[in-house]
Amino acid sequence: MKKSELIFIPLPETGHLLSTIEFGKRLLDLDRRISMITILSMKLPYAPHADASLASLTASEPGIRLISLPEIQDPPPIKLLDTSSETYIIDFVAKNIPFLRKTIQDLVSSSAQDSNHVAGLILDFFCVDLIDVGREVNLPSYIFMTSNFGFLGFLQYLPERHRLVSSKEFEESSGDEELPIPAFLTRVPAKVLPPGVFDKLSYATLVKIGERLAQAEGILVNSFSEVEPYAVEHFSRGDYPRAYPVGPVLNLTGRTNPGLASAQYEEMMKWLDQQPDSSVLFLCFGSMGVFSAPQIKEIAHALELVGCRFIWAVRTNMEGDGDPHEPLPEGFKNRTMGRGIVCSWAPQIDILAHKATGGFVSHCGWNSIQESLWYGVPIATWPMYAEQQLNAFEMVKELGLAVEIRLDYVADGDRVTLEIVPAGEIATAIRSLMDGDNPIRKKVRDIMLAARKAVSNGGYSTVATGDFIKDILGDHV
Ligand code: UDP
Repeated sequence: MKKSELIFIPLPETGHLLSTIEFGKRLLDLDRRISMITILSMKLPYAPHADASLASLTASEPGIRLISLPEIQDPPPIKLLDTSSETYIIDFVAKNIPFLRKTIQDLVSSSAQDSNHVAGLILDFFCVDLIDVGREVNLPSYIFMTSNFGFLGFLQYLPERHRLVSSKEFEESSGDEELPIPAFLTRVPAKVLPPGVFDKLSYATLVKIGERLAQAEGILVNSFSEVEPYAVEHFSRGDYPRAYPVGPVLNLTGRTNPGLASAQYEEMMKWLDQQPDSSVLFLCFGSMGVFSAPQIKEIAHALELVGCRFIWAVRTNMEGDGDPHEPLPEGFKNRTMGRGIVCSWAPQIDILAHKATGGFVSHCGWNSIQESLWYGVPIATWPMYAEQQLNAFEMVKELGLAVEIRLDYVADGDRVTLEIVPAGEIATAIRSLMDGDNPIRKKVRDIMLAARKAVSNGGYSTVATGDFIKDILGDHV
């Protein structure tokens, strides 16, 4: 039996790494012909925890090899991250291409000597420019889409719209324009598109990513048919690279909790054990969600109005090392003592998995949504950056699976919604979310069962993953 190796090039951000590495592990488990997953790790200047996270995710996995690339000397200006984060990332990847090319060439030639076979590249969607490098060394490139079919539908649609309409950019748009994105049943308001479309540079980047995705050999999507039936059906029609629904791909073990002391973790878990079933509200806004101080005060006020139990991850800066209590209202900690916990980083998986947790106010990162569905915990939507507004829209309007706080809120570098969501509105949404009779609760439980079925033996996602392996290994058996 010939041994095959796959080269993974993830974006080194927590949300992208967790599912990409987990997918690599899944491939190693599923098919013994895949003997090695080699991960090429770039050093992203604004994601300081990524290295530690990558090391712990791949530790004690003999089938995974980590190759760290040297730090680039001329990263894009950090200011670009605040105004056009998508452009920053794609420029950052472009600057890494010389290192990546050399490493890929070396891997291909050394595998030929070892009579191994490098079968292909698995790229993050921000790494689409590497499709060309794959071609140079005769390797097929597959994309691992860390988000869902809805977002893929948006990336497919954007270049088409760009070719067809005269006022191409959304820059001047009020956001009220409604778009007929074919992967969606309902028309999608422009204001829930990734905030990048309203920025000239990021808009061009997103169009380019959409165009280049069409040149991939196939697209592995971390989602499953039952959660997005219409969008999955749309992509099964065959006029695009094959899109494989392989999710949910979730990392449930071996995580690091940056900024959370183990004593604090133990205390939190002990506290959860003592709370009634489905009584605790969890609030967490991803690895990079930062609110303004006035908005934090309104959330705190809402928690006092509702009076429910809660765990709240409050981030005061992107590194998550600020004091989470600092912007809270005077006396909040004392008034909520015993019924609420505030931290800067939450052990999200353990909290969602706990039977005391009854609802999740989330920024709607796709990992967070799938983790929540996996444990049957309903979400109230509060998107912040990247494609989270589109995810929130899909969950609330397209699928009826979540309670709406906001769909179009933005807190993304310099692109920030000026509105402060008032405590009263937040409280109303929280009450609806925590209401045991809310029909969303039952729908979410059904999706939870479907998610588990999808990745079980013979489930749709397992079968699709097997199809992908067949396709990428080709005759190399
Ligand atoms: N996460 C966590 N604790 C936190 C914040 C985030 O464990 O305080 C994890 C969360 O479980 C998820 C990931 O970080 O797996 C965030 O990914 P997601 O796609 O939801 O959002 P992103 O951080 O990429 O915006």
